[in-house]
Amino acid sequence: MAVDPTAPYDSENIFAKILRGEIPCNKVYEDDHAFAFHDINPQADVHILVIPKGAYVSWDDFSEKASDAEIAGFVRAVGTVARDNGLVVRGYRLLGNVGRNGGQEVPHMHVHLFGGGPLGPMLAR
Ligand code: 5GP
Repeated sequence: MAVDPTAPYDSENIFAKILRGEIPCNKVYEDDHAFAFHDINPQADVHILVIPKGAYVSWDDFSEKASDAEIAGFVRAVGTVARDNGLVVRGYRLLGNVGRNGGQEVPHMHVHLFGGGPLGPMLAR
C-alpha cells in the first residue's frame, strides 16, 4: 500500500522491526545514525537500502525534522556504503521514493543504492 508521507511514524513498519532486530536482514553497514542492508527483492545486481536509525517516515519528514548530525551522518553513510561495496568506479544510482506518486511502500525513510552494471534509463516510460 502506498505510504502517506504526512502520516505519523508507525513503529511497527518493517524497517523499524529490522532496526530492532525483530526481523532478519542481510546487513552491510551500521553506525550511530544509519543502517544498510540488501533489498529482499533486488532490482539490480547490487541493490542496497540505507536507512536512518531515527523514526522518520520519508525524505520529506527526515529533511524537515532530523538534526544536522543525523542528516550529515546519513549522507556520509550512503557514500561509505557505495565505496565499501565497490560501486564508485563504475557508477551507481541513488533513489528515494516519497509517497504515492513516488511509489513508496515502506513508511521508514530510506534510499535505494543500485549498481553492479548499467542501470538503464532514469525512469520507466
Ligand atoms: P519503497 O518502494 O518503499 O521505496 O521500497 C521499499 C523496498 O523495501 C522494496 O524495494 C522492497 O523490496 C524492500 N523490502 C520490503 N520488505 C523488506 C524486508 O523485509 N527486507 C528487506 N531486506 N527489504 C524489504
